[in-house]
Amino acid sequence: MEPLKYLAGYPEHVQARVRELIGQGGLGTMLADRYRQPHVVRSDSQLYDYVQALKDRHLRKSVPLGKVVYDSKLKVMKQALGTHTVISRVQGDRLKASREIRIATVFRDAPAEFLRMIVVHELAHLKEAEHNKSFYQLCTHMEPAYHQLEFDLRLYLTHLDLAAAMRRRVAGDPSDPAGR
Ligand SMILES: [Zn+2]
Repeated sequence: MEPLKYLAGYPEHVQARVRELIGQGGLGTMLADRYRQPHVVRSDSQLYDYVQALKDRHLRKSVPLGKVVYDSKLKVMKQALGTHTVISRVQGDRLKASREIRIATVFRDAPAEFLRMIVVHELAHLKEAEHNKSFYQLCTHMEPAYHQLEFDLRLYLTHLDLAAAMRRRVAGDPSDPAGR
């Protein structure tokens, strides 16, 4: 069995349960049952509005949003479930930080809950650079089910990888395309 790279930080008994579910062929069904709702945030400008609306609701006083885009080159895991870039510009005599939010393209077709989870994650980084306690408090303030959603997102990414590997085997192509 391949290692569960998206779940590497979770205890072994949790990973064992997930492996069991995969072995029974039940992971995709479980996710499809739990997350039925697609979303309609297709374009970068729709994404911007979506992020701005969540920010207005929960983080009105933090720094203004900069650019918000879907990015097909982002590696979800390597770049810590999305990325957050601080772009500093000199404006007059003071340095003003504007925040750019890039969301991996995989979220465009993901269930609505996972898009909300990753946007909440990125918005929390407007106030907290590290993945520390107050960072996760911000996340659960914006989305009470944050931890469950992040775990299930990792299951979803695992499922996508397994499905892609299966398609490659069926097509007789053993090569691994640019991994997520
Ligand atoms: Zn992060």
